[in-house]
Amino acid sequence: MSKVLVLGGNFAGLTAALEAKRRIGDARHTVKVVSLSDKFLFIPSLIWVPFREREISQITRPLEPIFRRKGVEFVNAEALSIDPLQKVVKTTDGEEEYDYLVIATGPKFNYGALEGSDPKLGHNHAIHYPGGAMETREAFEALVANPGPAVVAAAPGAGCMGAAYEFLFNLEFNLRKAKVRKRVDLYWITPEPYLGHFGIDGIRGGKTMLTAMLKALNIKSMVNTAIASVDERGITLDSGELIESTFNMIMPAFIGQDVVRESGNDLGNEAGFIPVNGTYQHKRYPHIFSAGVAVDVVKPFTTPLPLGVPKTGFPADTEGKVVGENIAKMLRGDLELRSKPFDEIPPLCVMDAGHKEVLIYGNRFFKPRKFEMMIPNPIYDVSKRMLERYFLLKTAAGRSQLP
Ligand SMILES: Cc1cc2nc3c(=O)[nH]c(=O)nc-3n(C[C@H](O)[C@H](O)[C@H](O)COP(=O)(O)OP(=O)(O)OC[C@H]3O[C@@H](n4cnc5c(N)ncnc54)[C@H](O)[C@@H]3O)c2cc1C
Repeated sequence: MSKVLVLGGNFAGLTAALEAKRRIGDARHTVKVVSLSDKFLFIPSLIWVPFREREISQITRPLEPIFRRKGVEFVNAEALSIDPLQKVVKTTDGEEEYDYLVIATGPKFNYGALEGSDPKLGHNHAIHYPGGAMETREAFEALVANPGPAVVAAAPGAGCMGAAYEFLFNLEFNLRKAKVRKRVDLYWITPEPYLGHFGIDGIRGGKTMLTAMLKALNIKSMVNTAIASVDERGITLDSGELIESTFNMIMPAFIGQDVVRESGNDLGNEAGFIPVNGTYQHKRYPHIFSAGVAVDVVKPFTTPLPLGVPKTGFPADTEGKVVGENIAKMLRGDLELRSKPFDEIPPLCVMDAGHKEVLIYGNRFFKPRKFEMMIPNPIYDVSKRMLERYFLLKTAAGRSQLP
């Protein structure tokens, strides 16, 4: 009998656990998930929460019933440290032994890297966790009541550029809807070397399309620009220039979770991400797998300012499936594991642009690509809404095998 332990229960962890259980079949082997959150959260829809287009309850689903129906054990706890030599994880709910471990704990938001940017200080707002999105709702409504300059930005090393663009366009759209757009100078400040780089060295036509969109919407953009700090006056750039603003949303840099960074034993790299090979096995510990944002991805390009790789939902789901399949194979003694390196996963994404959308697709995440395209839909943002419904239904039903 073997124990499979999965840390994290969102996109990557949920898929890996359900897929491992489904493919293993044999009830003598156990699959257990330890997750800090007791709910699945469809993070991509958080960009709509500040504008009252979604409530948190509409985009979350309780995890325990999903796992119970599928025969997966669930513990709502935080993993504190991992001992890869003893094969033990210390959690806030006691110790868990494992034969196979999956690390799918997602990102930690590195506010420490940018002075004044921690939302708790009140100068910056956040959209990547429920409490932050709700607080941003209050700040947006205060901006509508008392319009002034606003900045949407990505910090150097930011890991989720696409979401920052989405928020920018949704903010612009909702300011127009509230009939105060003319009284808000809107800025986009980004470390990308050009608009539409997205941390993937762009997609053909993307730079032209984003440049045209920002121009048409009268958004002032600053590329290749590093923010040094944020305070009650606004944003100070590395150059010393102050951009006065009354509302700021700066997408932070992502690092790995404390549980990885503090476990030692060369478990993670310096940033706390897990070095894996194409099978998503740890490079040094073959019984440890990782999936989703927790994985270390090496970029095949450099940029003047640091940029994070957008480890989006599609790769997280794909990697979770590969991990589940490979653990089932190892348990059967089949050592021909499936390999699907990150850069071979297609960059399949919908960028919601506030009543408009852009579909992004290519055959590989990084260049060179055989084909790549960005298809704008200027009429209505329907695709992400459909994707959200589909994913929440699929998740509630525990159907990890579905695309
Ligand atoms: C605002 C925003 C919008 C986005 N929009 C899109 C989009 O439109 N399309 C797209 O494809 N991607 C989008 N993404 C990216 C997408 O959300 C991520 O790719 C996805 O969430 C990664 O899944 P994950 O499972 O690796 O990490 P997460 O979803 O972050 O899940 C990590 C899980 O681990 C748990 N955890 C953390 N630490 C511990 C611990 N120590 N012990 C136990 N459990 C722990 C957490 O509670 C959580 O359940 C967006 C991201 C953001 C922030």
